[in-house]
Amino acid sequence: MSHVMAKRKSTKRIMLGDVAIGGGAPITVQSMTNTDTADVEATLAQLSEMRCAGCDIGRVAVPDGSAAEALPRIIAGTDMPVVADVHFDHKLALAAIQMGAAGIRINPGTIGSRLHLKDIAKQAAGRGVVLRVGVNSGSLERRLLGPEGRAEAAALAESAMEGAALLEGFGVEQIKISVKASDVPRTIEAYRIVSEKCGWPLHVGVTEAGTLWAGTIKSAVGIGALLAAGIGDTIRVSLTASPVEEVRVGRRILAALDLGPHGPEVISCPTCARAEIDVIELACKVEEALEAYRVPLRVAVMGCAVNGPGEAREADIGITGGKGGALLFVEGEMVRRVSTESMLDELIAEVQRLIERRGGEGEGR
Ligand code: SF4
Repeated sequence: MSHVMAKRKSTKRIMLGDVAIGGGAPITVQSMTNTDTADVEATLAQLSEMRCAGCDIGRVAVPDGSAAEALPRIIAGTDMPVVADVHFDHKLALAAIQMGAAGIRINPGTIGSRLHLKDIAKQAAGRGVVLRVGVNSGSLERRLLGPEGRAEAAALAESAMEGAALLEGFGVEQIKISVKASDVPRTIEAYRIVSEKCGWPLHVGVTEAGTLWAGTIKSAVGIGALLAAGIGDTIRVSLTASPVEEVRVGRRILAALDLGPHGPEVISCPTCARAEIDVIELACKVEEALEAYRVPLRVAVMGCAVNGPGEAREADIGITGGKGGALLFVEGEMVRRVSTESMLDELIAEVQRLIERRGGEGEGR
């Protein structure tokens, strides 16, 4: 672990189905389906795609009775633990517990009375179901809102810790907490407060972060800053996009911080007037082609002789533009010149050969 990364905050270990969260367990990536939960076939298809992209935990919205009734078939059809996301109606939370959900996400701001919370807590405690106290800036209890109706970081943290304390009082032993705001500074502050004050594992994310491009940046900054500070046991990237993209972004965030197994990584230069090859096109094509692999491999795509040979030598496989074509590097050695027409195919062929030589070592996940 790099010295710039803070030591991970020690949290209590909980078990969501067979997936450990907290207490030093690997940081997990989760996401939420956007299919109609009652449409079991479509929901399972999406869960399967999410799983292939590296998802560890699947969450489904349970907005009504038909969604709750679909849960047993969904749970039986995936190897990920399934979390039911419930708002407003505590009876749906109770139904989801009965239907076998490994976890329930509830929001103290939307679940209603303490009595309802107690009912949920008793049922969950009896079955070892994880309860996530999931506080969001958009649905904080009115009494905790600031003077201009703003949900401040301290209030988000207070709501979550009050909710967790109530659940603890009702005998729940498996709790995780999230305190998400839609902007990064508030999110970071809220998580820092909770992390200092309590030992439950934290589910980290920036809520309603935005579209694929903007939301990826916001999530990477927010989640990345928290993880680098040692805070966070499981992550969810919230994007106005497919949950598969959320999982891919989540995996990339972990990989960027060297916090989890990761697949191939493309190192590519920003290109400039010196570039001897079309670096942008080649790097995009290489990245696309490498999507199929699950091994930790560094592949460098560089434009010219300035930094090209250096980066290409440091990578497992590298290519750098040269006069009239490109130079191909494998494990630090320049192996041959290639033409611009054949460079993509030759590079991918070397990737395959290297993976075979290494015997598929370091399977990503
Ligand atoms: Fe420009 Fe060459 Fe550096 Fe790429 S490697 S940015 S082409 S100088």
